[in-house]
Amino acid sequence: MFSSLRLKLLASFFLVIVIGVGTIAYISSNSAINQFDRYVSRDQAERYQRLALTFSNYYRYMGSWDEVSNLTAKVSEMYNERIVLTDPSGVVIGDTAEKLIGEEIVSDWSNKSVTINLGDFSIGKIYIRTQQRSPLQKTFINSVNKSVLTGGIIAGIVGIVLALLFSRNILKPIRELTEATKKMQQGELDQRVDTSAGGEIGKLGESFNELARRLKEQKTLREEMVSDVAHELRNPLSNIQGYLEGLREGMIDPTKKVFETLHQQSLVLNRLVNDLRDVNRAKAGKLNLDKKLLVLEDIISREIKALKAKAEENGVEISKNLNGPNLIEADPERISQVVRNLIDNAITHTPEEGEIKIETRTSSGEVRTTVTDDGAGIPEKDLPYIFDRFYRVDKSRSRGTGGTGLGLTIAKEIIESHGGKITAKSREGEGSTFEFALPLPE
Ligand code: ADP
Repeated sequence: MFSSLRLKLLASFFLVIVIGVGTIAYISSNSAINQFDRYVSRDQAERYQRLALTFSNYYRYMGSWDEVSNLTAKVSEMYNERIVLTDPSGVVIGDTAEKLIGEEIVSDWSNKSVTINLGDFSIGKIYIRTQQRSPLQKTFINSVNKSVLTGGIIAGIVGIVLALLFSRNILKPIRELTEATKKMQQGELDQRVDTSAGGEIGKLGESFNELARRLKEQKTLREEMVSDVAHELRNPLSNIQGYLEGLREGMIDPTKKVFETLHQQSLVLNRLVNDLRDVNRAKAGKLNLDKKLLVLEDIISREIKALKAKAEENGVEISKNLNGPNLIEADPERISQVVRNLIDNAITHTPEEGEIKIETRTSSGEVRTTVTDDGAGIPEKDLPYIFDRFYRVDKSRSRGTGGTGLGLTIAKEIIESHGGKITAKSREGEGSTFEFALPLPE
């Protein structure tokens, strides 16, 4: 229950309370006593002035200090203090303790003396040994100290109780976080902690929640990926398996066409593996782009040339309207891959006598390339998923043409890793337009 952090917190609270309460108690007790002592000494000073006046009046009345011992005795009794009276030359003429009479006064004998004046003349001096504090004064000071101590103890106890409650509250989110982390270690990735505490601990909770969300997302992605890959491998593998079993049992003749089909299937597998490697690299941010300054239009023209034969074979015409030359900083191999994929898709999905237009335009610091076809188009419901991994509109047809459903996913990763953007617009039956924008160097 008393985790070390809680102990440390409590010890700090305790230390602060002890120092705080102790300092306040010390200061307030001292100031009360000082105030009291000041009051007492002011009172004493007035008293001694009155005493000097009494003795002065006595002298004026009597004309000398004769029989002054009666007065000193009375005063001494009244004040409960020993009183010594000297003449102006310092010889003792009255002492309530009757010890110093006739002797010369030693100055350090007393801690208080008052001169007795008659008119402008000094006629003697009264020496008093004042007590440090009277029993009454001592009682007063003790009661002040006791009150301060009681107040201090009460404040200390209240402080410690509050510290116990606060430390519990402060540590609650940390306890929750520890428990959630332990559960995550055991594979329960659905953990979320309360972040309503705000401040640093709230932020820690938010970071933890974000971490948990990402871990969960990664796990789901990994699981989906494995299941998708298994699914994609199954088709070409079972095709190959079927043909090989047919050949082994003698049910299929080993004709050139059969071997061509087998070869075709192995190519599909090879493409799938290559595309998967690209997707993985791109997702991990490890595409290893070899960027250089290049003319985008040159790359597009080269790819159009390379796919011309396929387009003619399909009876599709390719036209271009390239503005430029536009110099961009990019990896030529990867940009070629994107252009090739877009034109290839357009050829595949455009029927005979169709037309494909390729254009480039520059606007506000970027160059936009569009590949437009008047082919099959993409249904509205499929359009938002077109860049997702393994997404195909017509699954059986696409597999038949060797499509992996990864081409657009890779294209998107490549364009985005160049700081660009790729989008698709389409209407079913009317055609599609794919556009990618790349930033122009400043
Ligand atoms: P594939 O390798 O299957 O072509 P892509 O990721 O390149 O994979 O494309 C995903 C899917 O998007 C395709 O299977 C196809 O259904 C659709 N598609 C892509 N380009 C076009 C286009 N120009 N016209 C119609 N459909 C397209």
